[in-house]
Amino acid sequence: MSNLEQTLSIIKPDAVERNLENEIKKEFISKGFKIVKEKKIQITKSEAEQFYKVHETKPFYNDLCSYLSSGPIVVMVLEKEDAVMANRDLMGATDPKKAEEGTLRKKYGVSIDKNSVHGSDSVENAKIEINFFFDN
Ligand code: UDP
Ligand code: MG
Repeated sequence: MSNLEQTLSIIKPDAVERNLENEIKKEFISKGFKIVKEKKIQITKSEAEQFYKVHETKPFYNDLCSYLSSGPIVVMVLEKEDAVMANRDLMGATDPKKAEEGTLRKKYGVSIDKNSVHGSDSVENAKIEINFFFDN
């Protein structure tokens, strides 16, 4: 059975700053993802707080929101069979030190906070996150 899904991907400030945007996009395309929508933006801290609201009680919340709003990011809607899990697999573990060989966070991440990419963790959250950044 075909299960075409969309997921939200963000190339975070540390990766944009190191000019990794095109290289990371090529990684997605070579794994069969279609970039359906994309934009390079810088969000405000209050927008970051809204986006990461699920983490508002965590000790890292404030730094995380400061960081995501600290520079330009590339926000993309990626489409592929089982895109949500396929993207989580391609990204690897949250902490680049624990990420498997070949994953984006292993290749590009510098630390748990500067881990280069975000990806939705469920189909339900993917819809919410896509709507957060894109009007239609
Ligand atoms: N994060 C952090 N410190 C931690 C855990 C998470 O700075 O101890 C950051 C990290 O950049 C991560 C983001 O918070 O990507 C969101 O955390 P989550 O647990 O949702 O990880 P993800 O879904 O991004 O793998
Ligand atoms: Mg998450």
